[in-house]
Amino acid sequence: MIPAAEALERLREGNRRFASDASALAATGFRTRRLETAPNQEPFAVILGCADSRVPAEIVFDQGLGDLFVIRVAGNIVAPSQIGSVEFAAARTGARLVVVLGHSRCGAILATLEEMGRPSKEQSRGLRSIVERIQPAIEPVLLSQISPTDDALIRRAVRANVQASVQQLYRGSGILERLVQSDGLMIVGAEYCLETGTVEFFDGV
Ligand SMILES: [Zn+2]
Repeated sequence: MIPAAEALERLREGNRRFASDASALAATGFRTRRLETAPNQEPFAVILGCADSRVPAEIVFDQGLGDLFVIRVAGNIVAPSQIGSVEFAAARTGARLVVVLGHSRCGAILATLEEMGRPSKEQSRGLRSIVERIQPAIEPVLLSQISPTDDALIRRAVRANVQASVQQLYRGSGILERLVQSDGLMIVGAEYCLETGTVEFFDGV
């Protein structure tokens, strides 16, 4: 089992390789690792990230087969199935680091801001289920004016949404709470920047 602090350092190093175009993966090939990991998985971290096509967790952290247990959903929201997936990964695979990974200019956040500024009756039930999870997370950071073109506001909203997901994982699961308190599990928030390729971890970790 890899301790959370060491897992975090691996992610930092991988992201540095990715952001500086020095990926270690491309040169090594996949066959050996595929055979090694086929019998069972021991990922060193869990990533709950956005489904955005520009933020594939394995690539931005320069990690290969079997390294990361990745859950992706628009807006990196936490619904019961996401909690169940994180519980499975933490309890059954031994991963001791969970990262909620948001990103700059997230479309799900923009859609939520738009909906708050100008509610539409035509929104599908499926999309509404995402917006309704993001809205309470970002309401506290909005000032009086809701404008989806305000970069500072979008940035605050992205971060607030990540923090809300972190809190929901802490509070929404007795299994995760127990692993945090007595078995070294760490849950942290982070933001990926689409332009620079760098990941910033929150809360000084
Ligand atoms: Zn997104």
